Amino acid sequence: MMLHDKFGRQITDLRISVTDRCNFRCVYCRSADPENYREHDEILSWPELNRLASIFKTLGIRKMRVTGGEPLVRPGVEDFISHLRALGVEDISMTTNGHLLADRCARLVSSGLNRINISLDSLDSGKFERITRTKSFASVMNGIDAVQSSTLAPAKINAVLVRGINDDEVERFAIFARERGLIMRFIEFMPLDGDRHWTRDVVVPAAEVYERIHSRWPLEQIPHHHSETARKYRFADGTHGEIGLIAPVTQPFCGHCSRIRLTADGKIRTCLFSKEDHDLRSLLREGASDEDLEIYIRSVVMEKEEGHRINHADFRPPTRSMVFIGG
Ligand code: SAM
Ligand code: SF4
Repeated sequence: MMLHDKFGRQITDLRISVTDRCNFRCVYCRSADPENYREHDEILSWPELNRLASIFKTLGIRKMRVTGGEPLVRPGVEDFISHLRALGVEDISMTTNGHLLADRCARLVSSGLNRINISLDSLDSGKFERITRTKSFASVMNGIDAVQSSTLAPAKINAVLVRGINDDEVERFAIFARERGLIMRFIEFMPLDGDRHWTRDVVVPAAEVYERIHSRWPLEQIPHHHSETARKYRFADGTHGEIGLIAPVTQPFCGHCSRIRLTADGKIRTCLFSKEDHDLRSLLREGASDEDLEIYIRSVVMEKEEGHRINHADFRPPTRSMVFIGG
């Protein structure tokens, strides 16, 4: 029987964080504070990840996204993707900041990766440096070029908009999508930043992004599957490129959520905003059989939260920030 929760939602997507480490410190994600990484032995080993992936596949997970932290900083990620491919996972994707991508793209393709999302929050190199607290703008652009000339094209580019920082670049990003034939996705800033600077005032609503682009380049909606997080649009004038709007804050899509997460230290998170994690790693390391693990996963998924409570008076951000959850 497929994985499902008590609200009748089928769970078919798994996001696997393969590391809590990252070579960037994006202001909306990771704290500027010194390193607070977990010890290596707290992180699931590749054999442990391979085993869990095959159990999740048996439980009906069809889509697996490899993420982090920054997945490309962990050596062996291509072999893990090959393993997912050999298991017969239907859809294998990755989210990366793109810094190491140019040199790795060909191997990712040959490992069997189907799709890739690259984070890029500014087209201005100075502003990019302030947001990511790195000097990697050129390497990320090279990564995008590598993807665009590979079978992974078109790349999906993710921009988290933060009012007063990069919300002036909406139109520039739309032009970038039109010129390069990219899928440009705008994501609302969620209260998952390590520095706890999130406030409702700095969220740029997807409706505003839609209006600003649509008034210059009319958009047509592309039909989408109800469990997809993004509303998708093409340009009505026929120019290539696509716009995606992801609005977890102003238009929550929890009712159609088909997703769970596995953190790098082996915890299941049934919602980005879960108050608690579920410790799969301990079970695994205590010698649980595949059947024990399946029973545990089913019971945890059954209790998946109905939805996040960002818009409720009692909302409290989770203790883990995005870099430790795996976006
Ligand atoms: N390091 C990789 C990257 O940046 O693409 C993968 C991990 S990152 C946590 C995954 C995604 O989460 C990125 O697209 C990032 O922009 C997004 N993200 C991080 N913090 C966020 C926040 N507070 N609100 C919304 N999206 C966020
Ligand atoms: Fe690292 Fe990605 Fe978080 Fe930026 S968004 S700090 S690249 S994990």
